[in-house]
Amino acid sequence: MPTNSSRLYSLVAGFLVALLARGDCLAAKSSGGADPTVVIDAGHGGHDRGGIPGQRVSEKDMTLDVAKRLKNVLSANGYNVVMTRDSDVFVPLGTRVAITNSYRNAIFVSVHFNATKRAGADGIETYFYSRDSLPLASAIHHYVVGGAPSGNRGVRRRGYYVLRKTSVPAVLVECGFLTNPTEAAYAQNASYRQKLAEEIAAGVRGRGSVGGSLSTTRVATSESIPLQPYMDQTKVSSSERRRSKRSHKKSARKKKKSSKPASSEAGSSSRNREG
Ligand SMILES: [Zn+2]
Repeated sequence: MPTNSSRLYSLVAGFLVALLARGDCLAAKSSGGADPTVVIDAGHGGHDRGGIPGQRVSEKDMTLDVAKRLKNVLSANGYNVVMTRDSDVFVPLGTRVAITNSYRNAIFVSVHFNATKRAGADGIETYFYSRDSLPLASAIHHYVVGGAPSGNRGVRRRGYYVLRKTSVPAVLVECGFLTNPTEAAYAQNASYRQKLAEEIAAGVRGRGSVGGSLSTTRVATSESIPLQPYMDQTKVSSSERRRSKRSHKKSARKKKKSSKPASSEAGSSSRNREG
């Protein structure tokens, strides 16, 4: 026979368990209850067109369209989806991060297209920063490369602001070069953008099971990480920019410290493959 105090204890314990369970459900509104909220980040927006000066196809429009399609696909799959922007507005990177970090159980997917002065540059590349983000990056890259006619530029680790400051698994996928005539033509095709969205969604769904693909997906070493041509990713505070420059000097010692997730690893290459 339970005493009054032990009955009270089990009541309180039961209430706490119920509260915790309810909290999990709030953070993961989906059929299974285990799926995270997916924060979809359409790169650029508003006065920030993305890409490089003089670029014909506006990156901000392409990223928004793919992001909206991705939202539809993931919503249809039962995911709770949040968008950092769903119209042509400028959202500061800090706001994008704050939106993401307001969810305990979330993953962050930033959609971009690439650009460089060399028109021949092409291919898909996927970025991550924290080690926790690698499975998601690998999976998204695996599916997008598999579903696109573009080349495979690999999964790369780099300390972009939105990847570094988000506290959840976070990935930035560059869905091809809008400065490449062939890839720009793909991107301007609605069914191709739908395909991109479906492949990114497949990566979200398969994020726990594509780890093996790392053997076939080229994961960049520090030496092969190129400079990023994007305007928005350079919008960090001057102190962070200084830190990044200092980190370049550390690149020679970096390999020895590979187990330590430091920003020096992400921004260490001074080589720009696109020249
Ligand atoms: Zn971009």
